[in-house]
Amino acid sequence: MKLIFLGPPGAGKGTLAAKALEILKVPHISTGNIFRAAIAAKSPLGLKVKDILDSGKLVDDETTTGLVKERLSQDDAQKGYILDGFPRTIPQAEALAVFSAVDKVVNFDIPNDSVLERLGGRRTCRKCGYNFHQVFDKPKQEGICDHCGGEVYTRDDDKPDAISKRLEVYRAQTAPLIGFYRERNLLVDVDARPAVDQVVENFKKSLHISS
Ligand SMILES: [Zn+2]
Repeated sequence: MKLIFLGPPGAGKGTLAAKALEILKVPHISTGNIFRAAIAAKSPLGLKVKDILDSGKLVDDETTTGLVKERLSQDDAQKGYILDGFPRTIPQAEALAVFSAVDKVVNFDIPNDSVLERLGGRRTCRKCGYNFHQVFDKPKQEGICDHCGGEVYTRDDDKPDAISKRLEVYRAQTAPLIGFYRERNLLVDVDARPAVDQVVENFKKSLHISS
């Protein structure tokens, strides 16, 4: 099964992809892991990406699309894949449609206030990096890590303004893609508000996966 995963920060997409690939036995392909693999393999596109990233720039549509095309032509991706972080733009979606026909686009949907509750409650240990949650997983003693005694704080990324900003960027970027795939009858909405096991069940039901 050839799938694209969409979902805002806080939807738990990474965890969901890990669970989904256990069920579907297909590779999880993200632009991040393609870039790293291409750089390690020193392919011509890999060397180009390294130059772009080293200079602190964003990798352009054409290069990203070229790398995804290269990756999807490999043996392990023939029976299916989960694409994550690609496409991000309409030109990328149009290019993808030319070289690979996706079966479904799974939109893990979660409203902004739920994301704010999830990510806004995150507290991180400055020393060991453990993530607590001020509602679901509080440290035993406020402000002190259970595991290493380090200071537990709120990362700038997890402050409400920063989360709202990230959501705004995500929604603006993804809205056209959602429209693009909905028009083509490829979009499947999955409610990402419940706990992860329930979301996985919703996902299987939406795609008629029985195992
Ligand atoms: Zn710690």
